[in-house]
Amino acid sequence: MTKLTERLFYRIAKRWIAGYTIEDAVNAAHDANNRKVTAILNRLGEHTPDRKLIQEYSEEYLKLLDVIQSEKIQGTISVKPSQIGLALEAPLFKSLLSKILEKAEGERRFVWIDMENSPYTEATVAAYRELLDSHKTLGMCLQANMKRTESDLKDLLPRGGKIRLVKGAYPETGEVAYKRRSDVNANYERSMNLLFEQGEFFAIATHDGKMIAEAKNLSHDHKSDFEFQMLKGIRDDLKSGLIADGFKVSEYIPYGPEWYNYSKRRMRERKRNILLLLRSITG
Ligand SMILES: Cc1cc2nc3c(=O)[nH]c(=O)nc-3n(C[C@H](O)[C@H](O)[C@H](O)COP(=O)(O)OP(=O)(O)OC[C@H]3O[C@@H](n4cnc5c(N)ncnc54)[C@H](O)[C@@H]3O)c2cc1C
Repeated sequence: MTKLTERLFYRIAKRWIAGYTIEDAVNAAHDANNRKVTAILNRLGEHTPDRKLIQEYSEEYLKLLDVIQSEKIQGTISVKPSQIGLALEAPLFKSLLSKILEKAEGERRFVWIDMENSPYTEATVAAYRELLDSHKTLGMCLQANMKRTESDLKDLLPRGGKIRLVKGAYPETGEVAYKRRSDVNANYERSMNLLFEQGEFFAIATHDGKMIAEAKNLSHDHKSDFEFQMLKGIRDDLKSGLIADGFKVSEYIPYGPEWYNYSKRRMRERKRNILLLLRSITG
């Protein structure tokens, strides 16, 4: 990518990310809180086998927890396993995550684990299953495009697993994932039903109006503790509507210089975003 293309892409990406620094993340979190939306902060970066960098990322999460506390932000953090050790060795990931969890628990903060592409799924689920016994305020993302998700839910929910349900952002093969949008949506609905039937606390993380309407219906029949989660910069109209209807809403707010891969995934999700990029290049 040339410097110019990067600058133009950043202009578009800015709607999905807070900026480069913790201060940018804090400002975006205050903005979310002012809209009665809880913030979920994520330091961008993934697939890191570099021990020094892994250490720095995990220390930044500790710092982020301090800032969330001192700035009285209503919110929490979400971490990517391959950013804090899983791309190097699973025990390192578990020990760094445990440190983050200890600090978060001292401040009564929930922690979310993002789910990455399929080479990391089994190790992430295994670590979550292990940590869940001693850390009740820990949640993990599961992806409806993955064929294994239903069985993961059936395993984790009776153990008190707290799940964020998403459609899945990574390209996967037909061996492990549903490829047709209709199959992904059908699995999202099945998984959502399981969550409302058995979930202690969970998150319906989507911008899909149909899934959100279905979740609202299910919430009438089940006394579930759940929240809606959406990404920064996407469907703000839906967020305010849900708040007005009395639902809890959180916004996932990423920040950091490593904004490119994240923004590429958001771009892929919507053709109109590509048009926006082209327009900013030509106009
Ligand atoms: C809080 C949160 C956390 C997430 N964490 C993870 C994770 O850990 N792992 C993972 O694999 N994925 C994660 N995702 C991403 C998720 O997997 C999807 O890629 C993403 O949410 C788009 O899917 P959708 O459910 O909104 O449905 P879609 O069917 O993709 O979109 C439904 C509608 O939402 C709107 N929309 C969706 N995306 C965009 C966009 N980029 N720009 C503008 N409008 C858009 C459009 O109106 C679209 O018609 C997360 C999503 C959220 C909301």
